[in-house]
Amino acid sequence: MSFEKTKWVWQNGKFLRWDEAKIHSSAFGLHYGVGVFEGIRCYETAEGPAVFRLKEHMDRLSASAQVYQLDIPYSQEELNEAICETIRRNEFKSCYIRPTAYFDSGSLGIRAVCPVGVNILTWEWPNDFGAEKLAKGMRVTISPYKKFHSSMIPTTAKATGNYLNSILAVREAASRGYDEAILLDMHGNLAEGAVENVFLVKNGRLLTNDQNSSILLGITRDSAMRIARDLGYEVEVRALKLDELLDADEAFLTGTAIEITPIREVDGRAIGAGARGPVTEAIQKTFFDVVSGRKSEYLRWLHPVWKESGARKAA
Ligand code: PMP
Repeated sequence: MSFEKTKWVWQNGKFLRWDEAKIHSSAFGLHYGVGVFEGIRCYETAEGPAVFRLKEHMDRLSASAQVYQLDIPYSQEELNEAICETIRRNEFKSCYIRPTAYFDSGSLGIRAVCPVGVNILTWEWPNDFGAEKLAKGMRVTISPYKKFHSSMIPTTAKATGNYLNSILAVREAASRGYDEAILLDMHGNLAEGAVENVFLVKNGRLLTNDQNSSILLGITRDSAMRIARDLGYEVEVRALKLDELLDADEAFLTGTAIEITPIREVDGRAIGAGARGPVTEAIQKTFFDVVSGRKSEYLRWLHPVWKESGARKAA
């Protein structure tokens, strides 16, 4: 991903031009990696741009902030409006949204007596893996880096420092030519992808794990489970063994950035037929219909960007 400067960034209650949106070099979050954030997508729909599951993302941001006692000085309503206004000002039809709350400049003592800064960045970021991987699946590897156990750092909080682990795993996987890394937990069970949750399909049933396997509880994971159940598939939630991934009929990863992307190969071994399977395809297709506003029963998951201004704009 290379950034194109967007027009507007929201920072601490103000809309700033890209080049003005700066943070001081003494910011606590920079030195110790203490911040919490969200990755959210806004999709183009026939009714204009709409943010997917905004409430669930902002609830998770609040829950993550609570873990680190980051007292966000804005209400969820204020942040929701700031997000929508940032998208409107940037004139995006679809985009990725990155709200971040972090300890700002105050002191560098480890007790973190600091004010909390909040940023909202938005930018156009189509699926990282692109249409080809969405259709054909990706090649993943089991990382030599384990996912840290949630008793060490809570994995259900989406905190900036957590990503040291993911970044090591992804870069190591990329250096060996793989698209993505899957991390095992400290018991050797599947944890998750570097920034995705894992699903397996076996005999027409879906399997995925939960927070007991040191994962972030993904909002795409929740969406995929609900869509799968609505399509009539059973979903079993439990710890998953590596062997079960290797023996699966199908496997896929879920996450805001990569949406629902099949896994076609793990360390050179084909999963199932080595291509996107029919169950994955059915869930993926419904997911894209849902996020694009083509499924009326899921419209509650879409937050229209233009509603607050009373001027809903055709995309
Ligand atoms: N696990 C990790 C570690 C992640 O960073 C993400 C991305 N937020 C996910 C899973 C998937 O979560 P979501 O579907 O909410 O994007």
